[in-house]
Amino acid sequence: MGNKTSRELEEAFYQSLNEGVVSYFSCTDLCGPVDYTARLCPKCGSGLELKAASGRGHVHSAVTYHTQYNENMKTPYTVLMVELEEGPRLIASAISENNSVPEVGSEVMATMKADSVLAFKTVR
Ligand SMILES: [Zn+2]
Repeated sequence: MGNKTSRELEEAFYQSLNEGVVSYFSCTDLCGPVDYTARLCPKCGSGLELKAASGRGHVHSAVTYHTQYNENMKTPYTVLMVELEEGPRLIASAISENNSVPEVGSEVMATMKADSVLAFKTVR
C-alpha cells in the first residue's frame, strides 16, 4: 500500500466534487481531519484518506471582489473561507440572496454550481 500522493489526493477531492460531494482529508490512523494543505498527518505522519463531509459549516471570513479577474465571475462576487463542521477550512464562492455578504459565523451549506463548482449558501 503506501501513502497517496499529492496528486492522488487532489484528484480524489475533485472526483468527489464532480459527484456532488464535498470531502476532506483525514488521517488513516485515528487523528481525524487535517488541513487541506496537508499531505501527511501532521500529528502522527500517517497517510491521508478522503472522507465525505456533511457540507455544513460556518463563515470564517468573507471578501467581495469588485474587480473582474475571471471572465466567468461577474462582479461583484463574494468569496468565503468556510470552516466545515468537521474542522478543515476551504475557500469557495458564496451564493446569497440579493448578493448580500454573509456575516462571519453564519451557517452555510455546500451546493454545486454549474460544472461542479463548489459554492456555499447561507442557511442562517
Ligand atoms: Zn495521524
